[in-house]
This record gives sequence, C-alpha cells and structure tokens, in this order.
Amino acid sequence: MKLIRILPILLAAILILTSCGKTYSKNSNVDTEENGITIVTSFYPMYIFTKNITKDVNGVKVINMAEPKTGCLHDYQMTPSDMKKVEQADIMVINGAGLESFIEKIIKERPQLKIIEASKGLELLNGESSHESGDIEEDEHEEDSEQKDHEHSVNAHVWVSITGAIAEVKNIGEQLAAADPDNAEKYRKNTEEYVKKLEAQREKMLNALKGIENRNIVTFHEAFPYFAKEFDLNVIEIIETEEGSSPSAGELAGKIKKIKESNVKALFTDPQNVTNIVQTVSKETGIKVYELDPVVTGPEEPDLDAYIKAMDKNLDVLLEALK
Ligand SMILES: [Zn+2]
Repeated sequence: MKLIRILPILLAAILILTSCGKTYSKNSNVDTEENGITIVTSFYPMYIFTKNITKDVNGVKVINMAEPKTGCLHDYQMTPSDMKKVEQADIMVINGAGLESFIEKIIKERPQLKIIEASKGLELLNGESSHESGDIEEDEHEEDSEQKDHEHSVNAHVWVSITGAIAEVKNIGEQLAAADPDNAEKYRKNTEEYVKKLEAQREKMLNALKGIENRNIVTFHEAFPYFAKEFDLNVIEIIETEEGSSPSAGELAGKIKKIKESNVKALFTDPQNVTNIVQTVSKETGIKVYELDPVVTGPEEPDLDAYIKAMDKNLDVLLEALK
C-alpha cells in the first residue's frame, strides 16, 4: 500500500482516500519515503526503458500495464485489470504523441497520478496523412475528421529508431529524477549507462550498413519511418498505414504497380502483422518478405537488454535483405 504516517487521523484519512482510488498527495513530487513508489508503464518499450533507468533503485517497483503481446496501443481499450494496475501506481510512463488515446480517461479518474511522457518535446515525423510518397489521391481515404488531427498528425513510433529511444530514455530519466528527487542521482546514472549502450548499438548498426547500395524498401505498418530515417532506408511505400487497416483492392493495385516500378530491394513486415496482404504483395512483385521488430511485444519479464537484442536481430535482417 501507500504511505503510512504516525498520526492515526491522517492514517484514517489516507485509507479513505486510497480506497476511493485517489492519491494522497498534492505535491508535484512523489512521496517515496518508507514505502517506495510504484511506476506503471503503458506498454512494452516503455517498460524496458523504465526498468533500465530504475534497475537498482531500492523501493521502486515497475509494472507494465498492457499485456506484452498487445503490440502498439493504437485504439487500445483499457481492461479492468489495466485500471487496477494504474490505481496502484504513483507514476505512469507513457510514450505520448497520441499513442495512448486512453490517457485522458486516466487523467480524469486519477488527476494526481504523475504522468511522464517519453516523447515530450521531441521533434516528431508526420503521420500517415502525409508520407512523402507523392500519391496524394490515394491518401484521401475517409477518416473521422475529428480523430484525424488528434491521432494521425504525428507518427508516434519514436522508440523504433535508436536515436528516438535514446531521447525517450533521457526524457524518462529526467522526469523521474524530478518526480523523485531522493533517487535522482541513481536515475541519472542509470540513464547515462543505458544511453551509452544504446549509442554503441547505433554506431554498430550504422557501420555495418555502410556499404549497402540499394536502400529502397516497402513496409506494412507505419512503425518504421524513424528507423528508416536513422539508417537511411528509402521507404517507397507503406502498405497498411495502421495496424489492422487494409488498403482497398484499388489502392493495393496502385501500390503494387509503384513497387514494381521502383527497384525495391525488400519488403519488411513485423511480427505483429497477421494479414495475408504481405504474401499477396510479395507474390505480385516477386520481392521477398523479411521481418523487422518494432520492439512492441516480448516476454512478460524481458531482460534489460531486450531492446538492444531486438535491434541486433534487426541488423542481421537488414544485412541479409539488402546485401
Ligand atoms: Zn504502431
């Protein structure tokens, strides 16, 4: 449970408050004395980052809200068990950039929960309505206009590039240090250590990919623009801009035509993609499909280097596909 003070009256008040699902403190800092703090993360990559930053900090418990098989949180609906996890927490770490559309509900129900937004202040790429492929007519599929501005104006998949991951890790580290000043030094030290590892991984990948000449690729989900930018890959086409959204037959035919004309080296899907459009495009174009990992799913308890290991695998895949 939360903090317990000596004064019985205060204690009673706290018990009443916590049983109503509210927090006890109006301070912007989280009270960590004696009972520690619980941090809930929205989904898998935020969990890995936060675990690294808090790894040896006593009294800090990190729990992950969405089941690790959930994947990206586009249009995610919270379950009662998710809400229970949020209710236990003092701090919540989210990606932001519109990915967690349920966050407004959480803020409403738990106004005192400290929210840390990993993408805060970062420069974001445009969302699906404006990828630079030039096929303007094809992008005019109907969308709820009220949703459009809010959710699709930026691409939220910042963590999929290592540079984006580094920026998010630094952001989480700094905001955690501010929320919990007692442990600030440890958070900063862990952040710095983890960032060094991530930088080394980025360096390794950039070096390994230096000699690649044809960098024209096609992807099946909007997860990879940051990754592609980092490694100078030229995304000719994105087949399904959103998870679960399929292009119409006409759109698909247009995309296939464009791929055939564009000297595309490889098609990249992700482990979460279960549609058979991938096979159709591969068959129609004669281009092989490979799997890149946007690091949104993994085991219940990933090891601290899970993100780096996933990127290592992605490097092997790129080398195999683009050689
Ligand atoms: Zn996604």
